[in-house]
Amino acid sequence: MALIVQKYGGTSVGSPERIRHVAEKVSAARQRGDDVVVVVSAMSGETDRLVGLAHQLAPRPEPRELDVLLSTGEQVTIALLSIALQKLGCAARSYTGAQVRILTDNAFNKARIRDIDEAAVRKDLSAGRVVVVAGFQGVDEDGNITTLGRGGSDTTAVALAAALKADECQIYTDVDGVYTTDPRVVPQARRLARITFEEMLEMASLGSKVLQIRSVEFAGKYNVPLRVLSSFQEGEGTLISFEESQMEQPVISGIAFNRDEAKITVVGVPDQPGVAYGILGPIANANIEVDMIVQNVAADATTDFTFTVHRRDYSQAIDILRDVASGMGARELTGDNKIVKISIVGVGMRSHAGIASKMFQTLSKEGINIRMISTSEIKVSVVVDEKYLELGVRALHDAFELERAPK
Ligand code: ADP
Ligand code: ASP
Ligand code: MG
Repeated sequence: MALIVQKYGGTSVGSPERIRHVAEKVSAARQRGDDVVVVVSAMSGETDRLVGLAHQLAPRPEPRELDVLLSTGEQVTIALLSIALQKLGCAARSYTGAQVRILTDNAFNKARIRDIDEAAVRKDLSAGRVVVVAGFQGVDEDGNITTLGRGGSDTTAVALAAALKADECQIYTDVDGVYTTDPRVVPQARRLARITFEEMLEMASLGSKVLQIRSVEFAGKYNVPLRVLSSFQEGEGTLISFEESQMEQPVISGIAFNRDEAKITVVGVPDQPGVAYGILGPIANANIEVDMIVQNVAADATTDFTFTVHRRDYSQAIDILRDVASGMGARELTGDNKIVKISIVGVGMRSHAGIASKMFQTLSKEGINIRMISTSEIKVSVVVDEKYLELGVRALHDAFELERAPK
């Protein structure tokens, strides 16, 4: 008998019929003799709807109140799924994050899980009940409701699997696994039977929203066996594996992209100590995360300093830098919030040369101008204009022959 944590995303629980279908899958797993803990998201579109309601009342709602609001989405689904399970004769009980006691820090809207009290869950499991837990939410030390950031139900599932030492954590979604790139953008994308944990971490952090990055971090830290599968069709899905396969590794495993980028340049700042800190210090103080950073080699006594932020933080970052830039004697402050980042990822890059240049060649053949570049051991990222996203990703998918399974 195994202990399985299953997570069903928004589309998979998007209607009463779909919730009934999930209940049937869960109940089938029970009948095979497994202990099952189920984590569910809000019904599809619900979290966006709630965010929209709050924004009708205030442009920047207080984060604490936003979390009280957003957590209701998942609360609806846990109750509906438990009702559906009970109707099938499968004993079940639902819990909000606070009821389980998924303890988090107090960073509203992006809280991190600190500890999970699994006693109540274990008690239900040993009484033969399915335990249905609300994803995406927790509670801080003072009893405030918190949420874990968009896509956070993945992290709830993996964290529960880690706490319970589950045999497998299964992420059921609307695609049948992790693909070489988002199949919505490249229809020829190919499902990967397995992907290394390290590559999945890069893909998630570079924008592939199939798994929330923190869920992958958790899986790595606690060695949780993790699989991505379809809620709608049978199949093996994709195993996130901890060992690199003995077989020939493809050089590139996947392409990730991020549409939520914006870039800011402080033009003509004096080339002297303290400039990077002078610019990025105030940005960090405002809790704005910076992604890529490029400082040009000084041509005269001045240099240009460019960095990227999340699009949502763009206007705030520009506001902060207006005074900073003039205080430094910079020539100009410019920005562009219509840019995207495209990245190629693969552990095979370590042992192959010429991958970056092949990427640049492919983009240049399509007439796509590269605005920024950054590389690490297993990825190359470029920033390009938003309008080139689809063209760029498809051209790279072709050039690296990702539609073909490696020999
Ligand atoms: P859920 O609501 O189940 O959490 P998400 O929308 O968060 O589902 O994640 C699934 C979606 O992730 C897919 O529909 C797909 O469009 C997108 N996606 C992005 N990159 C990939 C990838 N490399 N492989 C598979 N799906 C991807
Ligand atoms: N409902 C939340 C969201 O839409 C959490 C999740 O689905 O994982 O982001
Ligand atoms: Mg998701």
